Amino acid sequence: MAKVVCESCGTSFLYNVVKDMEICPVCGKPLWEDSAEETEKVDNFSQNKVLSFGDGVELGENDSFDEDKIDFWWYEIIEPGDVWEGITFTDGDVSANCAKCGHFVGSVPYPVAKTKDYLLIDSRFKSKCGHCGNELKNHILSKRPADWADPRKRDMWVKDYENIPKCPICSSIKIHKISLTNKAASALAFGVLSVGHVSKTYKCDTCGAKF
Ligand SMILES: [Zn+2]
Ligand SMILES: [Zn+2]
Ligand SMILES: [Zn+2]
Repeated sequence: MAKVVCESCGTSFLYNVVKDMEICPVCGKPLWEDSAEETEKVDNFSQNKVLSFGDGVELGENDSFDEDKIDFWWYEIIEPGDVWEGITFTDGDVSANCAKCGHFVGSVPYPVAKTKDYLLIDSRFKSKCGHCGNELKNHILSKRPADWADPRKRDMWVKDYENIPKCPICSSIKIHKISLTNKAASALAFGVLSVGHVSKTYKCDTCGAKF
């Protein structure tokens, strides 16, 4: 039968006796030190609970893992030596977005340290969002959120807004199409089809104007 030897006190046990115990019943030290630690490390990594680049990595005063303090998000890493569209990126490269307005900010240098979701960029690197002016002060970049939406499409939306019909009197967009039923109903009420009335398509919910 399989035996387990306590590394701390040397006592040997039958595996079946101690398999559910975490500590040695003789000396009280962890029985499965190595495996326990490894499991913990894997868990922490996959859940990303450990917000650290490890010992020996110094953070600047503005460097923070706090999502509110993140200036840039990263979304693609080109490893050093990777070839992309015929260009060899000897030093690697990271593509980034502004975390404040979502626009693209070009690329930042390959990280000096990284975890699964966070990159630490050389503190000497300076950059600014060309769209909103947000400056890169926090050199920790977090991974771009999965629900990020391309702001260029958002901007097209804003342009579309210009074409949304608005009330010519008060500029309100709270207007609605006068339905056929309404037209029919008013034709009934007036007894005759009033051309002037029926040709109007929208009614403003704010000021009541018909146009
Ligand atoms: Zn022991
Ligand atoms: Zn920006
Ligand atoms: Zn109006």
